[in-house]
Amino acid sequence: GEQMNGLKLDSALAILRRSSIELAAPPGSPDYLQQVIDGLVTVIAIDPLTGLGNRRRLDEELERQSQLVKHAKFVSVLVADLDGFKCVNDSHGHDIGDSVLRQAAAVVRRTVRDSDIATRMGGEEFAIILPDTDIKVAAKVAERLRRAFIAEQFGDQIGPLTVSIGVASLKCGEHPNECIKRADACLYAAKRSGRHRVVVDLGDPAQSGSL
Ligand code: GH3
Ligand code: MG
Ligand code: MG
Repeated sequence: GEQMNGLKLDSALAILRRSSIELAAPPGSPDYLQQVIDGLVTVIAIDPLTGLGNRRRLDEELERQSQLVKHAKFVSVLVADLDGFKCVNDSHGHDIGDSVLRQAAAVVRRTVRDSDIATRMGGEEFAIILPDTDIKVAAKVAERLRRAFIAEQFGDQIGPLTVSIGVASLKCGEHPNECIKRADACLYAAKRSGRHRVVVDLGDPAQSGSL
């Protein structure tokens, strides 16, 4: 009924406030509810812990980018996973773990371009979409990210944090999930071969020629 809707609107407004999303239209104006809806649509694609995009954002953006691949554009994806992160939680507690994740997100954000789409896929795993970027340049970005992590101070007791990174490029006509799977397989290979390294998907000889 009426009161229920009012309560839901209140919670919606509280969510928008917490996410620092401002509404230009005053309450009750014709555009008001539309702006609330637009705000909520924005919020559902944001990871509340880090402010990066979330899995939903990743999937939507990959879908959009895969259309561009049909027009002979390159799109690459990095999947970066913190090494031994469980240890941070186990020795310092979940709250410190959370603040390390926020700091890790900031490292990711400032290491890639503003036009790149940085997301937290889940846990301590970040996926970054690099529009207009071939696999060779993507490999360089991944290497820059790997170095950015060892240059970062994550609090005196935590010590250095490293990342393992898998790199792949979208192929024309493939489902975007396939690209994530290939990047993930590279990440897994990076973990298996000792962590703290970048592994690039060399599956497409046309793109990986002289890496
Ligand atoms: P590996 O080098 O193989 O990646 O080891 P790892 O310890 O990083 O990976 P594992 O998958 O064993 O553990 C990931 C841990 O990340 C488990 C969980 O405690 C922690 N984690 C996942 N999500 C969150 C979160 O939102 N907050 C915090 N604080 N910790 C999280
Ligand atoms: Mg990990
Ligand atoms: Mg993980």
